Amino acid sequence: MACRICSGRLHRFADFGRQPISDAFVLPGDTGEEFSFDLAVGVCEDCTMVQLLNEVPRERMFHDGYPYLSSGSAVMREHFRSLADRLLATELAGPDPFVVELGCNDGTMLATIAAAGVRHLGVDPSGGVADLAAARGVRVRKDFFEAAVAADILAFEGPADVVYAANTLCHIPYLDSIMKGVATLLRPGGVFVFEDPYLGDILERASFDQIYDEHFYLFSATSVRETARRHGFELVDVERLPVHGGEVRYTLAARGARTPSPAVAELLAAEEAAALADPRTLRAFADRVAGIRDDLVDLLTGLRARGATVHGYGATAKSATVLNYCGIGPDLVPHICDSTPAKQGRLAPGSRIPVRGPEAFASPYPDYALLFAWNHAEEIMAKETAFRDAGGTWILYVPDVHLVRG
Ligand SMILES: [Zn+2]
Repeated sequence: MACRICSGRLHRFADFGRQPISDAFVLPGDTGEEFSFDLAVGVCEDCTMVQLLNEVPRERMFHDGYPYLSSGSAVMREHFRSLADRLLATELAGPDPFVVELGCNDGTMLATIAAAGVRHLGVDPSGGVADLAAARGVRVRKDFFEAAVAADILAFEGPADVVYAANTLCHIPYLDSIMKGVATLLRPGGVFVFEDPYLGDILERASFDQIYDEHFYLFSATSVRETARRHGFELVDVERLPVHGGEVRYTLAARGARTPSPAVAELLAAEEAAALADPRTLRAFADRVAGIRDDLVDLLTGLRARGATVHGYGATAKSATVLNYCGIGPDLVPHICDSTPAKQGRLAPGSRIPVRGPEAFASPYPDYALLFAWNHAEEIMAKETAFRDAGGTWILYVPDVHLVRG
């Protein structure tokens, strides 16, 4: 298998077995076989890009029924509002600026841009979430962004000052076409800003559930710099972000257009020192993850034997990797509570654990809650104080299996 960025040789370092589409929640009566694929990860020996070895057709993941909403968390709403404010003040302050967002989801970021009266366009192939964005006054094009679409946008709207993408770029195996498209669409001096889960955080926290069908690439500053270079871009800024379990926001500009910030050299040096792309580092991560799997299954099996009740909390896309890799089914976790209406009344993909609404969590509270949405742990624990008061205990599995009393 060859690297999707540079055609270099891929070194396989982790294998999570057969996995379903992480967001394909199943109707209870549906006994048909689910689509599945081998979730294995490799690192390119040349450009250091960490990537999945198998690609899922994009239409299977991003369609009218795509259930994830950016606006679902108050922390994320604030995160995107503050980013939009910063773009408005720094990059979009000239006459008639134009910003394009790839994978705009329900318009959480662009709503602030739209409210400021700034010209914008969201591009998202998932019709349901795109409709929500349009309902908030955001201009949306329902499409997969790629080179041809970029040329079309340029012809009708003119060049963009900023192209932005959050938790989108790492979803897209055909990054080549995206980079070409962005290079076409940006005005000279414009910037491409994107943020995605960071390989450094995933390795440090052993957050293996960041690896699933939609996360095709696990970026580092080193691999992003090399990808950018191949398309005439330069990595001019990086910013560590605490959201979604640790991300980096990368800023690319045309080569020579901007002076790179010192943060770029600092992060590149830190990655070198941590040997992020070294197969030995990556195999050590895989060994650690196998230990987490064994510990989690032991804990849940022991709790079941004692007659303790355990519910899942947050039927996240990430939970698909945990449940299916660990072989956890309704016998160990009878149901998962989730606030997303599109998931409720359905079964989690692969594991077939029923998903219920948030009200089911409190009636009555379980003894233990397995927190799949650990990236929102602080926000959730602050909201669920009654669970703590009822004597409930959270189970977390990142960076290791541990218990948190409320
Ligand atoms: Zn490569």
